[in-house]
Amino acid sequence: SAKRAVTLIGLGPMGRAMGRVLLAAGHPVTVWGRTRSRADGLVAEGAAFAGSPAEAVAAAEVVLLSLTDYPAMYDVLKGVPSLEGKAVVNLSSGTPAEAREGAEWVAGRGGRFLSGGVMSPPPGIGSAEMSTFYSGDEAVLDRFRDVLEVLTSVDYRGADPGLSQAYYQVQIGLFWTTMTGFLHALALAEAEGIPVGTITPYLIGANDMAAFFEGTSRQVAEGDFAGDEDRLAMGAASIDHVVQASRAAGVDTALPAAVSALFRRGLDAGLQDDGFATLITLLRPARG
Ligand code: NDP
Repeated sequence: SAKRAVTLIGLGPMGRAMGRVLLAAGHPVTVWGRTRSRADGLVAEGAAFAGSPAEAVAAAEVVLLSLTDYPAMYDVLKGVPSLEGKAVVNLSSGTPAEAREGAEWVAGRGGRFLSGGVMSPPPGIGSAEMSTFYSGDEAVLDRFRDVLEVLTSVDYRGADPGLSQAYYQVQIGLFWTTMTGFLHALALAEAEGIPVGTITPYLIGANDMAAFFEGTSRQVAEGDFAGDEDRLAMGAASIDHVVQASRAAGVDTALPAAVSALFRRGLDAGLQDDGFATLITLLRPARG
């Protein structure tokens, strides 16, 4: 049977990967990107390049956006006269509030809206092992599931269009802070004469982060911060040693110093006998 036509706007590494797998799956694909040359590869593989965003939107019922951010969606779509009958699926990263505003803006022009947070680097696009958080208009998901499942697995989180970005930003926040901690560890190892190839297996194997996440999650959910084994006073001294060791080795201290400052605020708040998880009380929004 004939495959559904798809419009794809935004041709960065992510958009190009999406275009390739959609073409490979047999979908007619119309693309538009601000920088025409980025479409060359996809056009060679069979995509049509639209002369404008309006022409691109006219070419298919479903319009996938893979842009740097939400402001780019308005730049691209503001000149399109109407989104009547269109399903806009914004796969660009943004805040939950931006996704909610974007959904209203699209609805105001007659379109339906689904937001997505893609949990894959470009090479993972086309793999069902990778997943995308979706939220917003579930009818869009039902109607275009065949298209979206070409990209990654589909994980629909609910009707609030901000939810996909909430799930996504939570995950990405953990990713970047963890990866920066990893880079700091490599820099400290190098400065101490330990080759990165020697230290890396220890970093991978030494810490069962899944077990730490589970234990901490349970304590936070139950509000039980008893510090039987991990008193905050111990933790504060421990992270301080990392700051000192880094400084002595000439390694940048910004990351461990930021963590150390948080522990210190915990001590100042009298939490020294609680466990590490008690620090969440300092991270939560202040009660107004
Ligand atoms: P890019 O930053 O490369 O952006 C994609 C495209 O957005 C670019 O081709 C750019 O056009 C276009 N764009 C940006 N601003 C505007 C504008 N004002 N008007 C018109 N076009 C604009 O991102 P990626 O392709 O890497 O990623 C796309 C989205 O996916 C991002 O939101 C990203 O956070 C997310 N993502 C990316 C991952 C990755 O590993 N790359 C992983 C998971 C999610 P031009 O070509 O003209 O510059």
